[in-house]
Amino acid sequence: MPLDIVPSVCPHDCPSACALEVERVDGGRIGRVRGAAAQDYTLGVVCAKVARYTERQHHPARLSRPLRRVGEKGVGLDGFKPISWDTALDEVAERLTCAAQRHGSETVWPYYYAGTMGLVQRDGINRLRHAMRYSREDLTICNALSDAGWLAGVGAKRGVDGREMAKSDLIVVWGGNPVSTQVNVMTHVAAARKERGARLVVVDPYRTATAEQADLHLAPLPGTDGALACAVMHVLFKEGYADRDYMARYTDDPRGLETHLATRGPVWAAPITGLSEDEIVGFARLYGCTRRSYIRVGYGFSRSRNGAAQLFAVTCLPAVTGAWAHEGGGALYSNHDLVAIDRTLIEGLDLLDPTTRILDQSRIGPVLTGDPRDLGDGPPVSALFVQNTNPMVVAPASRLVHRGFARSDLFVCVHEQFMTETAAMADIVLPATTFLEHDDIYTAGAHTYLQIGRAVLPPHAECRSNHEVISGLAERLGARHPGFMMSAVELIDRTLRASGLPAVENFPAEGWLDCRPPFVTDHFLDGFAHADKKFHFRADWPAIGPGHAGLPSFPDHVAVIDDGDPERPFRLVAAPSRSFLNTSFNNTPSSLAREGRPTALVHPEALAGLRLGDGDRVRIGNRRGSLVVHARAFPGMQKRVVIVEGLWPNHAFEEGIGINLLTSADPGLPRGGAVFHDTSVWLRPA
Ligand code: SF4
Repeated sequence: MPLDIVPSVCPHDCPSACALEVERVDGGRIGRVRGAAAQDYTLGVVCAKVARYTERQHHPARLSRPLRRVGEKGVGLDGFKPISWDTALDEVAERLTCAAQRHGSETVWPYYYAGTMGLVQRDGINRLRHAMRYSREDLTICNALSDAGWLAGVGAKRGVDGREMAKSDLIVVWGGNPVSTQVNVMTHVAAARKERGARLVVVDPYRTATAEQADLHLAPLPGTDGALACAVMHVLFKEGYADRDYMARYTDDPRGLETHLATRGPVWAAPITGLSEDEIVGFARLYGCTRRSYIRVGYGFSRSRNGAAQLFAVTCLPAVTGAWAHEGGGALYSNHDLVAIDRTLIEGLDLLDPTTRILDQSRIGPVLTGDPRDLGDGPPVSALFVQNTNPMVVAPASRLVHRGFARSDLFVCVHEQFMTETAAMADIVLPATTFLEHDDIYTAGAHTYLQIGRAVLPPHAECRSNHEVISGLAERLGARHPGFMMSAVELIDRTLRASGLPAVENFPAEGWLDCRPPFVTDHFLDGFAHADKKFHFRADWPAIGPGHAGLPSFPDHVAVIDDGDPERPFRLVAAPSRSFLNTSFNNTPSSLAREGRPTALVHPEALAGLRLGDGDRVRIGNRRGSLVVHARAFPGMQKRVVIVEGLWPNHAFEEGIGINLLTSADPGLPRGGAVFHDTSVWLRPA
């Protein structure tokens, strides 16, 4: 069997965007997938789920032909009959046209997210949207809150190169679990520990696999990280760890911050966070006495009503100690905006009508069920075209989402790789290529490389890429834009040229281009990204979002969380699992085998209080509903905390609806964002 090794890029919704080496067998199948050893962020390492990509790529349940629903919604493949591509695209175009004629173009909502992170295949849907003046989509489900928090202090969505972790003496992983979800971080942490004796601190409400490897684990109650950060800064000022020269030069109001924090010490923070004063002071001293301290900021603690304020508070730490100025010091949240890419061609931004309405993707449940807070005076959404996401499982307030998709007057087309729960609710399902079967270009959150991934396999069966489907629909709908006439590679090439970057023919042969800025820029020594070039301790929340009224300008604990009551004493965190990535991989045999079954981690004392034991069924609920999972006694967290890992398929739950039944579609402050980890619940024996 001829076997060759071909380069690629992991497209999944993960900051690492690993450079890959893929075993190709007979030109049509893949074998093992490895990390590219020569790319010095990936360094030859990928997560187990992608190493076994053959399970996903060649899964027997891959969709292979366009389908029209002939049975009930939600039953899956048995409810569909195959049709030709021309018939399918003609029908979708006709239904979208009819919907727009009846209600106006904004009744159509092209709905997408990050099932692939490639710019062409992910974002091309916006070109069709803008050309047809369909409703716009506010992308709030992942990073609206974290972006707001980071931008408040730093001013731009970039941070210190992740490779510098290897040169740190103290790495703080705050609100992330890279052992499970971003394994490459641990490569660089391991190098720092081995070569420099660096210490690892993890801040996370439960003892994750990453926390197990840490020298110190702090487990605050969900939604209280801002209080912890304030108390740490209080100690930094009080005990002489604050770098006043650095702050005078690079920050906006250090005196104001110090005065503000005077009443926010460990005594104040301990009862809010549930941590001891000693834990807080100990961490503050460790952080304060280490110049090369690097905070790897995760998303977890931003998924809360106060998430932006929490993340902002954490970004202030290196500005107080001046760690930003040192090699191996500072912080990184995301580098997705490091490279200025001209997205006009890919997204059709030259056609964008700024008067078209914007609907919040996290509120798809309220939107589809006609909530006037979302629709205002506008038309109902009567047609959905979905790519790259599975809102029937991943969106909050699942009950509303399910009710919305069940509407008989809603036309739905889903372009997917598998018969997901969302596809099963569609009228037309179109089979989609994987990243191995199409061309794309990728930025990364965790590193500084821009990468091109080329198709290395022919499309599975009749699968078509997102770009091909968008272009096919554009032709039928009469949408005009040069981007619809180009191949994916032409789009990449023209976009690179428009961005002042090497065109495809001049792009490095290995497929990655390091866009790391010089040290002084990387570390903001030539200024932060605000007009005054300062790091802002005083956040300008009104400039970031309309919901700023409840947010104080200085970092603080913002007590707007769903903190429960005697009826709902537990705080639920719906955390990611190691073997799934959102709902990708939740149908591959090895991922399912490793994850077992939907499980609630419950503190042993809480479990005993319910007269339950390890492995018993427990019902978790709040006013949005309740569901049954198996309990596991887990002491690595506070007694009020309950963890359910992984976006399991709905059918994995006894009553056919998953964990987002319990999460809220309330928007976080100040400009929206899903609050997946801000949920109070009750527990009862099932
Ligand atoms: S670690 Fe992330 S980017 Fe790397 S292979 Fe796994 S999912 Fe893909």
